[in-house]
Amino acid sequence: SKTLRLILGDQLNSKHSWFDKADKNNHYLIAEMRQETDYAPHHIQKVLAFFASMRNFAKSLEEAGHQVIYFHLDDKNNPQKLDELIEQVVKEGEFEKFEYQLPDEYRLDEQLKNISESLEIESKAYDTEHFLTEREFLKDFFKGKKTYLMESFYREMRKKFDILMDGKEPVDGKWNFDQENRKALKDKRLLRKPKLHPKDLSDIHKMIEKAEVKTIGEVDPKNFPWPTSREESLDVLDHFCKNLLVHFGDYQDALTTWDPYLFHSRLSFAMNSKMLSPLEVVEEVEKYWEGHRDEIDISQVEGFIRQIIGWREYMRGVYWAKMPDFAEMNFFGHDRKLPDWFWTGQTKMKCLSHSITQSLEKSYAHHIQRLMVTGNFALLAGIDPDELDQWYLGIYIDAIEWVEITNTRGMSQFADGGIVGTKPYVSSANYIKKMGNYCEHCAYNHKEKIGDKACPFNSLYWQFYERNREKLEKNPRIGMAYRTLDKLKNKQEILDQAESYLDKLNEL
Ligand code: FAD
Repeated sequence: SKTLRLILGDQLNSKHSWFDKADKNNHYLIAEMRQETDYAPHHIQKVLAFFASMRNFAKSLEEAGHQVIYFHLDDKNNPQKLDELIEQVVKEGEFEKFEYQLPDEYRLDEQLKNISESLEIESKAYDTEHFLTEREFLKDFFKGKKTYLMESFYREMRKKFDILMDGKEPVDGKWNFDQENRKALKDKRLLRKPKLHPKDLSDIHKMIEKAEVKTIGEVDPKNFPWPTSREESLDVLDHFCKNLLVHFGDYQDALTTWDPYLFHSRLSFAMNSKMLSPLEVVEEVEKYWEGHRDEIDISQVEGFIRQIIGWREYMRGVYWAKMPDFAEMNFFGHDRKLPDWFWTGQTKMKCLSHSITQSLEKSYAHHIQRLMVTGNFALLAGIDPDELDQWYLGIYIDAIEWVEITNTRGMSQFADGGIVGTKPYVSSANYIKKMGNYCEHCAYNHKEKIGDKACPFNSLYWQFYERNREKLEKNPRIGMAYRTLDKLKNKQEILDQAESYLDKLNEL
């Protein structure tokens, strides 16, 4: 029967069984929609990356003999809303069946359920064939547990998919080499040029501007650097294996003004749009390492693989176990407004101005910039997690709610009260200083807690613990911080200093 199959912008999986063979009864629908450009203010590079990748995907489907119905954002008859779009296309094309792949976002999942119910024709949902586990796997795995320990989930994935295993044991005798992955970068010469794929997206850019889509950040549309096809994505992966894997683990946590990407893979967009599958990425990396064991240490490889089959897969499971409640969680009751300089980078704190400016320029920040610079500051300052979610959801090329919100509310803000993490990720200036060069030439002094030049992280750090004493003191992993705090000779002065900073966050 004549079937309409919907493909969402983050479902660009050319290996899906839908595409095994071309069938003239199946018509694939792909649409650029205001519904998607407008639910948060997105970075212009993110909107461009999605539209360009969707167009390339449609083209590759057509070349393989499939029939595609494609709506550009500026098509006159584009209804801009998913429900209206499907209703219109089903009617015009006299379709007898509607099929879709399970979305990764709660919002779209609900919408598609409603659409299916209201359609008069039969509808059916398919798996995306992207993740290693089904939506509910993690929920069942941790049934009855309050904290979902990532490490146990990760080990299960290693065994289940036989990744870095030596029979029943982990390769080289250890599951986790995280302790070795904490170096600051001291030598610039180790850095490698990123593998960019410059292309001219001026046409799409003009269309977005003309439609007055509200976006943030910067772009040179003639030199768009991100991979927007499967071929380019595979090329980024290849570059990672050959040039970056060798130092990935070592400098995973490094912070520096020298380079935005360091040894990070830049693969998150390619994976989140499903142009690459997580399993193929880790298998490729493992295979490359097996051929180069004398050059690349296991700690580099394990560190990378853990991010993907561990953290990424785990966050997706947490999302489906805890939504929709997760989006409302605010354990500390934080309610301060996000400082204006999150949207401009104009703050005297060098670590933040660097990380935010880079994010606005590149739509990219690596994990430790997100967690220990912007996220850390927001948590210490008590920023409303709703405001913060909007920021993280918009600014990064890879930001899709299932992985954004679990990282932001869960890992970074501890707003879930400890589902994802066992304690909040907070630090004073000391950590930021230790991990790189941000504190050099900063207007504030990383050693001082009190006075005009004192780094705000220092007093805010203690004020965070003091104001959340009731919620945190009993946590066995945190008790030590309270003993130190209570012994501080100038405790009251530090707390007063923090209050004065909190009163003028916009001016810091
Ligand atoms: P690499 O450092 O090369 O890591 C390889 C891959 O591992 C990544 O591509 C990613 O797929 C995966 N990965 C690593 N860490 C995580 C993690 N904590 N959770 C899930 N996957 C992970 N990642 C997103 O994909 N989308 C987001 O919207 C997002 N928001 C974040 C918000 C905050 C506050 C924090 C702290 C982290 C967030 N992350 C998010 C996780 C992580 O920072 C990015 O995946 C990573 O920086 C992407 O760059 P990369 O591809 O160069 O990563």
